[in-house]
This record gives sequence, C-alpha cells and structure tokens, in this order.
Amino acid sequence: MENTKLLDTVEALSALVEQGNLNEPQLLEQAVPLIAALVAKDDWLPADMAIPHPQYYQQQLLYGDPQDRFSLVSFVWGPGQTTPIHDHTVWGVIGMLRGAEVNEPFRLTGQGIEPDGAQHILQPGEVACVSPSIGDIHRVSNAYDDQVSISIHLYGGNIGRIQRSVYDADTGAQKAFVSGYSNAMVPNLWASQV
Ligand code: FE
Repeated sequence: MENTKLLDTVEALSALVEQGNLNEPQLLEQAVPLIAALVAKDDWLPADMAIPHPQYYQQQLLYGDPQDRFSLVSFVWGPGQTTPIHDHTVWGVIGMLRGAEVNEPFRLTGQGIEPDGAQHILQPGEVACVSPSIGDIHRVSNAYDDQVSISIHLYGGNIGRIQRSVYDADTGAQKAFVSGYSNAMVPNLWASQV
C-alpha cells in the first residue's frame, strides 16, 4: 500500500499556515495532533533520512515551505550524541519517532542560564513544544548510548536559515549560529504516488 503520510502531513501543515490569521497558541494546538499522528507509527521515514553520522547528529530537511512559513526536519541521533544548549526563536513541535531523547530546559537569568525545571525523556509517539513564549532554550540528547534515535521537528519558519543562538553551558555566553541542514537533497514526497 502506498504510504503518503509525509505528503499528507505537509499538505495539512500548508493548509494550517495558509489560514494566515492564527496566533502561536492556535498554531501549536493544531500542529501538535498533526505531528503526533505522523510519529504514531514508525513506517514512513525515507531510509536516506534515517542514517546517523558517526560524529554529528543529523538534521535532514524533509520539507521546507517555499515561503518559509514552516519546515519539517528529521533529527537523527547517533548513540550518545547531544546538541549544545540552544534556542529556536520560532515555535516548534517535536515528535519522537524512534528511540528516545532527553530534553533539558534552560532559561536566561541576569547572570547567564540555569536549568528550567526537570529534564524530560520523550518516548516514541510523544510530542513536545518549544517557543520563545513557552520556553525556547534547551539541550537535547539521544537517551541511548547504544542505538539510533530519531525525532521529527516542525518549526514555524525555515529553521536551517534562522539566525539563533547557542549558549555556553558553564558561562551562559551567547553565540549566534545558523544550523543549516545536513542533507544535500530533500526526499521525493511524491514518489509513492507515481
Ligand atoms: Fe531544539
């Protein structure tokens, strides 16, 4: 049977941002069930978008809205890999597809950054949100040191092109960065319909 989950999700997300008049809570409210449905069953991610790198976590662009209203990314964690502490500057929805990841929230203080509540482990099928208004700074790690984990990230912009920040874990010093994407090619969403 054809599996058009990725294409179906992109169509639904396009319709969502096309409404144009939704505020961030409304966008998150409507995007969460779309991402939850996408990660409910691990049977659709193109194999090329699931390959870990021995050294670096991978950010595979699955789809980028031509008007930069949203992007959909496959995060592939090799065993034990972790992000620096970073922010996003746009809203985001994270759905766990395979394995598990550890999410450690942080917040800015006058002196730097400090943990903002307990860390949380995201299990397959679960969804979490980030944004400047609900908490935007975190560090994410593969929960496993002996297997690959994969989460699917939706952002309210072209996350690979957005200027944002990483933070030094000890001093809280802020440094500008643009993440880019790991892949040279994006998946052919329409291949299953040919
Ligand atoms: Fe993040």
